[in-house]
Amino acid sequence: MECQSATKSPQLPPVLTIDGPSGVGKGTVSLRVANQLGWHTLDSGALYRVLAVASRRQAIPVTDEMALATLASQINVHFDILPDLSDTRVYLDAQDVTPELRTETCGTVASQMAALPAVRQALLAKQRAFRQLPGLVADGRDMGTVVFPDAPFKFFLTASSEERAHRRYKQLKQKGIDVILADLLNEINERDKRDSTRTTAPLVPAADASIIDTTGISIEDVVTCILNQVLKHTTKAT
Ligand code: C5P
Repeated sequence: MECQSATKSPQLPPVLTIDGPSGVGKGTVSLRVANQLGWHTLDSGALYRVLAVASRRQAIPVTDEMALATLASQINVHFDILPDLSDTRVYLDAQDVTPELRTETCGTVASQMAALPAVRQALLAKQRAFRQLPGLVADGRDMGTVVFPDAPFKFFLTASSEERAHRRYKQLKQKGIDVILADLLNEINERDKRDSTRTTAPLVPAADASIIDTTGISIEDVVTCILNQVLKHTTKAT
């Protein structure tokens, strides 16, 4: 089953897509960019993670693509961004599932489910529904290629897997989650491989995306770089 692409329409609210591999800082950058622009956010990875959590509760195995697709179309996900942008709480129905979502095991199961075409198709409409005025900053793996191919602003963040493992390690430690750096690096490499080599919506930059190598660059500088490009584009258009 192929994912359908969105129809181009000048009336649709603008979207800024931020794609890239795990641990590259997409989430933090997206929140800050959205905050500066006053736009909505979509953390698409969280939808795949919530599906992993929901499927575990219903004992649906990762091999049952159709049951997972049905569940994906039914899950009710709600995001709550803290005012200081330090965290986002994620709710499955009315229950806060954030701690469960953050584990590497959840990321691995999410990535296995994300390789199933019917699951991706089932989550497509849910993701596109986040496109609301005045605009949307969407982060994930296929935001610029499949979900919002007509987005006027597309970015793809990269960094070495070692740097990403270090960042993730620090982030999880700060949140009180105990992890081993070498295990994180292995999981990141495995997940990158699975996400980049799957046949449906693999992790690749959109042809019209600006690629930003964030190795050795602060989050603030990445945010500034993205905002400058948006500003340049907007000034040119007026
Ligand atoms: O970004 P995050 O690590 O939360 O994503 C978890 C998994 O969900 C990824 O490893 C990837 O397999 C999948 N994903 C995806 N497409 C997206 C976002 C996430 O396939 N747009």
